[in-house]
Amino acid sequence: MPYFLHQAASILRCAGRTSMAPAAPSGVAPASAGPVDPALIEDLVAANRILADQGVLDGYGHVSARHPKNPARYLLSRSLAPELVTPADIMEYDLDSIPVDQRGRTMYLERFIHGEIYKARPDVNAVVHSHSPAVVPFGVSSVALRPIYHMSAFLHRGVPVFEIRDAAGMTDLLVRDPHLGRALAQSLGDRPVALMRGHGNVTVGSGIPFAVYYAIYTEVNARLQLQAISLGGSINYVAPEEGKLYEPNIAGTINRPWELWKKKALGK
Ligand SMILES: [Zn+2]
Repeated sequence: MPYFLHQAASILRCAGRTSMAPAAPSGVAPASAGPVDPALIEDLVAANRILADQGVLDGYGHVSARHPKNPARYLLSRSLAPELVTPADIMEYDLDSIPVDQRGRTMYLERFIHGEIYKARPDVNAVVHSHSPAVVPFGVSSVALRPIYHMSAFLHRGVPVFEIRDAAGMTDLLVRDPHLGRALAQSLGDRPVALMRGHGNVTVGSGIPFAVYYAIYTEVNARLQLQAISLGGSINYVAPEEGKLYEPNIAGTINRPWELWKKKALGK
């Protein structure tokens, strides 16, 4: 199919899904997967505050966790600046991003990022979407984001850039329906990070601390890479083999920064 026809078909598909997506057909809300361990809710609230504290999230962006009792449900705050999120703000959604019990609460427009990634990635239990500032240039430049040091070794798997124009032509850049969420999830593939051209990025992990760690160190790596580039010489990046060898160290020590970040963020 010629490219423009493919694009037009994609826009039509997208439009159709948009009109159907946000409200449950015939007003039937999905069933709840039941109460969640307060410790997980506390971690999710902490993740919101930590990412705000670390400059990854500002008034925008969000973080979610898969429901521990049902992989077809996830937990995400109502539409609120992350730094203000409390346990009472956490809502439950199905993977089509339809709320279990909306109760008039405003929802994040881009919640489809979360639902569609959980559908595509059974190994993922937490998703962060941010506009973390130092990362944004790498989504619009031909210079790829690559691992500068061991802390961001997870970038060795490659960092795809999601081009929303390929999925839906000209848009307002927001992932505001399931079609766009699915296209982003496809772009992410089996990796922990994907950049979103002209917008931000997503990071995913097997648990909340991992998704948060990846979001923080993607931002830090972007700053360091910009500094290395500004020195003007050639850059000796962490090799894929070195990245692979370092990665188990992240899993082995992640509780150390996580406990620190959590204490600082919740203590405020
Ligand atoms: Zn966004």
